[in-house]
Amino acid sequence: MTSNRSLQKSILYNDLVAILGAENVSRDEVECQAYVGDVSFLGMVIPRHNFEVERPDFIVWPETTEQVSEVLKVANIHKTPVTPYCGGAGVQGAAVPLFGGIVMDVKKMDKVLEIDETNLKVTCQTGLIGQTLEWILNEKGYTYAHIPQSTYCSGIGGFLAGHSAGVLSTKYGKIASMVLGMEVVLPTGRVIRTRAVPQSAAGPNLNHLFIGSEGTLGVITEATLVIHPMPEVRHFRSFLFPNLHSAFEAVRKIMRRGLLPGTLRVSDEEESKEFYKQDGSFMTISYDGFEELVDLQLRETMKIAEAEGGSDLGPEPGERWWKRRFSSVYPKDSGNPLEMGRHTLNVGNVIDSAGSFTYLEAAHREIRQALLRIPGQSFMAHFSHWYKTGGMMYPYCVNTGAASEEEMIDRYFRMHRAAVEVIHRLGGTMTHHHGVGLTLRGFMQEEFGESFETLRSIKHTLDPNNIMNPGKLGFDWR
Ligand SMILES: Cc1cc2nc3c(=O)[nH]c(=O)nc-3n(C[C@H](O)[C@H](O)[C@H](O)COP(=O)(O)OP(=O)(O)OC[C@H]3O[C@@H](n4cnc5c(N)ncnc54)[C@H](O)[C@@H]3O)c2cc1C
Repeated sequence: MTSNRSLQKSILYNDLVAILGAENVSRDEVECQAYVGDVSFLGMVIPRHNFEVERPDFIVWPETTEQVSEVLKVANIHKTPVTPYCGGAGVQGAAVPLFGGIVMDVKKMDKVLEIDETNLKVTCQTGLIGQTLEWILNEKGYTYAHIPQSTYCSGIGGFLAGHSAGVLSTKYGKIASMVLGMEVVLPTGRVIRTRAVPQSAAGPNLNHLFIGSEGTLGVITEATLVIHPMPEVRHFRSFLFPNLHSAFEAVRKIMRRGLLPGTLRVSDEEESKEFYKQDGSFMTISYDGFEELVDLQLRETMKIAEAEGGSDLGPEPGERWWKRRFSSVYPKDSGNPLEMGRHTLNVGNVIDSAGSFTYLEAAHREIRQALLRIPGQSFMAHFSHWYKTGGMMYPYCVNTGAASEEEMIDRYFRMHRAAVEVIHRLGGTMTHHHGVGLTLRGFMQEEFGESFETLRSIKHTLDPNNIMNPGKLGFDWR
C-alpha cells in the first residue's frame, strides 16, 4: 500500500515535471545525496554523520524566472521546503537543505542578458559562475571587480544572497555596493524588480533586504551590476612592520589619507612567520587604474609605511601572491582549513569578524587568547577588506587531535562560541562576508538585539509557510 507521504511526493514530482520538464527534475538518490552538504566544515561532515538533516526529495534546475515562480507556488501548496543552491561553495552551511524537500539549483540560469558599455553595467541571471562573468567582461575590456577566492566555484546568486566580498573590495566595494537592481521571486511566487539606477531616494532600498538573505526571503533570479573598464596597470608593494600595531597604524593612515588600494592584506606575527618566513607583520598592497594615479598612491603609501617603521620589500612578494592566490585553495589535502574535516579528525574554519581599528586590535588579542584555551587549537590571522572606519579580521582556526567526530564537532562549536562572545562584547560583527549559515544561526538574536524581531516579522510576512531555506539566519525551524 502506498503511504500518504509517498503519494504526496509522487504528486509533487509530477507537478515539478509539468513546470520544468523531466530533464530538469531529479529524485535520483545519488543526486539528492550529493546536495545534502556544501563545502562548509559542517556541510562536509553532515553526509557521514547523524545530523538531523533529511536528504532532499528533489533537485530542480529551473531555466527561467517563470519556472522559479511556478515551483515556489507549488511548494507552498505542498508546504515543502525549498533551498536555493548556486555554487555550493558557502563556508557556513547556508545551502544545506536541513529539512529536505526541494533543492533549487540555479546554475542553468546562467545567461548574460545585457552589457551596457555606455552606462557601465551588466545584467545577468544569477546562476552564472563568477569567473565566467569576469571572462565574458574581460573579452570586451571590462571587469566587474568582484573576485572572491571562490570565483571559480560560486555564482552571482550565492554572492548576493551571501553578502560576498572579493579581494579588491577595499577599492570596489562588496557585492552590496556593486548591485544596482535585481529581480527576485518572493516565497509566494510573486516576481518583483528593483530599479537599476545609480541611486534613488524613493524609500528604503529593497536590494539590501535580499543581499545576505541566504535564500530565506526568496530566489534572486537576475541582477544588474556595475562594471569598470579594465585597469591599465596594477602595481604591488610589500612591507615588513616591526609588529601588528605599527602595520595597523599604517593602514589607518592610508585609509584616512583617502588612498584607494585594490588589495591590502596585513598578516599577524604568526601568519607572517608561517607564510612569509618573516619576523614582524607582513603587508601587501596594490593599486590599480591609470599609471600616474597608481604611482602617486604608491609613493604616498611608501611615505606612510616608512614613518610607521615598515621596511620596503619591493613589488615581488605581492606579484607572486597575486599570481598564485588561487593555487592554495583548490588542490585537495593542501592544508587549507576548509578542506579539513573531509578526510581527517581535524577542524578547520575561519572567523571573519569586522569592526573599527580599535576593535580589530583588541579582538585579535582576546579571540586568540580565548581560542588557544581549547585543546589542539592553533591560531593565525590576516586582515583585509578595509574602510576608513576599520576592517576585517580573518583568523584561520585549525583544531587537531579530537578523539572522535563528536568531539571534533563540539570543538568546532566551542571555537565559535568563544569567538562570538569576544566579538559581541567588544562591539564587532561576527561575520563580514561569510554569512551565518548553520555555524552562526544561534547567535543572530544576540547580533541583532531588539531589531531581530523586525527581521523575523519581514520573514513571516514574505514567507507565511516558512518554505524558504527553513532553519537558517536564526529564523524558526519548521
Ligand atoms: C575556497 C573558498 C574561498 C572562498 N573565498 C571567499 C571570498 O574571498 N569572499 C567571500 O565572500 N566568500 C568566499 N567564500 C565563501 C563562498 O564562496 C561565498 O559565501 C559565496 O557567496 C557562495 O556562493 P555560492 O554560489 O557557492 O553559493 P551557495 O553556497 O550555493 O549558497 C549560499 C547561500 O545563498 C543562497 N542562494 C544561492 N543562490 C541564491 C539565489 N539565486 N537566490 C537566493 N538565494 C540564493 C543559498 O540558499 C545559501 O543560503 C569562499 C569559499 C571557498 C570554498
